[in-house]
Amino acid sequence: MRVLLVEDEEKIANAVKRGLELKGYAVDTVADSDTGLSYAVDPDYDIIILDRMLPGSKDGLDIARQARAEGQKAPILILTARGSVEDKVEGLNAGVDDYLVKPFSFSELVARMQALLRRPPVPTSSVLSYADLTLDPAKYEVTRGGKPIKLSNKEFALLEYFIRHSEQILTKDMIINHVWNEDAIVMPNTVEVYIGYLRSKIDRIFPDQPPLINTIRGFGYKLSR
Ligand code: CA
Repeated sequence: MRVLLVEDEEKIANAVKRGLELKGYAVDTVADSDTGLSYAVDPDYDIIILDRMLPGSKDGLDIARQARAEGQKAPILILTARGSVEDKVEGLNAGVDDYLVKPFSFSELVARMQALLRRPPVPTSSVLSYADLTLDPAKYEVTRGGKPIKLSNKEFALLEYFIRHSEQILTKDMIINHVWNEDAIVMPNTVEVYIGYLRSKIDRIFPDQPPLINTIRGFGYKLSR
């Protein structure tokens, strides 16, 4: 997998590059935004990591926006010292797929990258499905085996995250970061509680079907058959 890393902090750039290369990624690093943009339009990259604040005439979001406008399809992850909801909305509007707030751990960066790289292309239908589950984000409807299921907002968001990342191990941290916003204070056992609610609604009431939300001991959870 070919990675573009646009990061002006040399220490971070070098550490990330070295770490990713040990994992078999091919990494190009660039330290300023103008050179960064000229690289970021290259369709050969499988994933692009952009620091938000960069020297030069642009910031990371400008690069993302322009690269998308020029047809870049690769997932884009932004590294940012800022992590407000407004920043994230701005980022999503710029075509960014994920955020990592500095300081971040290398293992979290890798986990996020792998999740982005596994993400299937945007489906043409807005209805998501896995096994006999369906979830319609627009109509806010969930069914299992054709039977409607009522979920709370958080349960719905959690299930949507699971379906979008089916058959992938999701750690509690990943779940917290994707289902709750930056302002929320979420403890790992809060995740367990919500997983419990979700299980009671989509698994326990279908005792004849295999449970779909599975615990991967020591790692997290996985939506799988
Ligand atoms: Ca920077």
